[in-house]
Amino acid sequence: MQTLANLIAGRQRRPIAGAYLPDFEPATGEEIARVPASDAQDVRAAVEAAAAAFPAWSSMPPAERSAHLLALADLIEANLDTLADAESTDTGKPVALARTVDIPRAVENFRFFATAILHTESAFHESHNANWHAINYTLRRPRGVAGLISPWNLPLYLLTWKIAPAIATGNTCVAKPSEVTPLTASMLGRLAIDAGLPPGVINIVHGTGADAGAPLVEHPDVPTISFTGSTGVGCWIGKTAGDMLKRVSLELGGKNPNVIFADADLDEAIDTAARAAFTNQGQICLCGSRVIVERGVYDRVVDGLVQHAESLTIGDPRDPATLFGALTSAAHRDKVASYVEMARELGGTIRCGGKAPTHLPDRCRAGSFFEPTVITDLPPGCRVLTEEIFGPVVTVEAFDTEDDAVTLANATDYGLASMLWTSDLTRAHRVAERIHAGIVWVNCWMLRDLRTPFGGVKQSGVGREGGLEALRFFTEPKNVCVRLS
Ligand code: NAD
Repeated sequence: MQTLANLIAGRQRRPIAGAYLPDFEPATGEEIARVPASDAQDVRAAVEAAAAAFPAWSSMPPAERSAHLLALADLIEANLDTLADAESTDTGKPVALARTVDIPRAVENFRFFATAILHTESAFHESHNANWHAINYTLRRPRGVAGLISPWNLPLYLLTWKIAPAIATGNTCVAKPSEVTPLTASMLGRLAIDAGLPPGVINIVHGTGADAGAPLVEHPDVPTISFTGSTGVGCWIGKTAGDMLKRVSLELGGKNPNVIFADADLDEAIDTAARAAFTNQGQICLCGSRVIVERGVYDRVVDGLVQHAESLTIGDPRDPATLFGALTSAAHRDKVASYVEMARELGGTIRCGGKAPTHLPDRCRAGSFFEPTVITDLPPGCRVLTEEIFGPVVTVEAFDTEDDAVTLANATDYGLASMLWTSDLTRAHRVAERIHAGIVWVNCWMLRDLRTPFGGVKQSGVGREGGLEALRFFTEPKNVCVRLS
């Protein structure tokens, strides 16, 4: 079994107190690694290393910083298969998904921000008045040490989505990956050393949220916090960071509606709705977990979803043919199962799934698997329809009018992503405007252009990531005014 290390000041370090946590493989329930159970002492050492690296890194010409990020991207790409195997083992996601989505996206994150910093422009204003003439320009400077905290569902993908813009813009960072899925973050630490990244630019501290995450948020020398995770933890981080006047970005939970009008291309809508519900076992913050369908095509959509769900090969995540793997932990599987139980008690109809699969490879018998599940006939506004389940469970509701569709879509405290399916162009624009969400996909799902603003409204978060938004978030604007006459 491997013992993982923190990355501090360019070296792999044991946790100072010498304590470790177990890391389990969700597909088997076996312990696969020991993870540093870091605490405030390790966080302090990491912040010190990041602060020491900041002056040289922040004053390095962008082209040189860019070259460092590109070198790291190349190394991730060269190790794609090993990283994908580790991601699949650690999360329970099908290895095919890790190979085609998670790891390629980590490469893309570094390449995108490495090249973005070569093409940014500063604002300039020529200012006239009756008495004076001046030029104003805006400098954007890195803010110092960034604290980056990420969840377990897309471990390397989301961690690098934060690290790349933070360091590209000249900050140094302390990253705290999820303690549930630490393997690829630990491998990234080794790759950062191999890529020759200056020591202290990226520091990685493993451990629980309470023992390692909270001290990072509370550290006075970390002015910037970027967090992706649950709404409850995000609220605490928002309050704590607010008290210390830190800049904070919170990417939180979702309960995303997928609205299907009768005039849509139904085959494609159903196919995509099923993918949107069940990819990564429904554990993507952008999954469409609430399908809202115009009544005339309700039966066809429900039948189509059930058919797709039943056709998914549930199996060993290691098998390249597997389309549907394990949930990330036994505790999470139990949480998902409890919502299905609640749906039964509320009078919902479980159209398919709703239980652990009975046929699994021998290796996976003790794994945390749960069948893709379609639920209908729930009472409006109930908890199953409004709370985030974050698993392979999709609910279906019917609507009669466009207004009803919008009301149902907005009937949750979350507002991250949404989808709508229609062949009526005017309606698409009209409904997109009315849905409370940070993202509206029209006749598609998960088409991601990294330049677009990414984030949610309401309980789904504060702030935006991606493209210029991320470059702005990690930099401080400074106005310089020069009087000419
Ligand atoms: P979580 O909030 O339990 O943990 C996320 C991270 O925060 C982990 O690294 C954890 O150790 C750390 N953490 C926990 N308590 C902390 C504290 N007090 N201080 C500092 N750090 C702390 O979330 P999770 O269960 O790992 O992830 C699932 C959640 O993430 C879901 O709600 C999902 O919707 C959300 N998510 C959101 C997005 C998005 O972009 N909006 C993307 C992926 C996942």
